[in-house]
Amino acid sequence: MVEMWNIAIQTHADEEAEVYAVPQFKINTEEKWGIGWKYSLKCLNCGFISPVVKLYKEITTDERDRKAAATNINLQAGLLDMPLGNSRTRLLLADLDIPPPAESGMSKLSSYVNSKTTDLNNESMRTKMEEVKNVNRRRGASNPNVINVAWSVP
Ligand SMILES: [Zn+2]
Repeated sequence: MVEMWNIAIQTHADEEAEVYAVPQFKINTEEKWGIGWKYSLKCLNCGFISPVVKLYKEITTDERDRKAAATNINLQAGLLDMPLGNSRTRLLLADLDIPPPAESGMSKLSSYVNSKTTDLNNESMRTKMEEVKNVNRRRGASNPNVINVAWSVP
């Protein structure tokens, strides 16, 4: 948000300084991208229109579509750990007077985040299995692939 104001004030000064030194901005355009937004501002004194500024960080995903907003990825990652699905989340946002993201977009990102989380969990489990096998090898186990869930105490 602060970056948007700084860009607007700076570009306004670069283009309009001789005529009007002090801008008076109002929102010119606002576009929703999930729970992220991008804006442009318009100066009421001189008609200057600022560049459109995204109020979110972007993340490149495997998808070939436009880049995902980090806030939307984070929302889906957070929902993985909660007893709340996309439909209820949309209702919650609407109750809070926050325009909810499109259901289709949420569903698509949800699948993406679920898939990435599964990959991470599989990789984490594979690493842990290798650690257990290494411990078994150091203990001289006949078959290091066997994982004892309880050790017998001699
Ligand atoms: Zn102006």
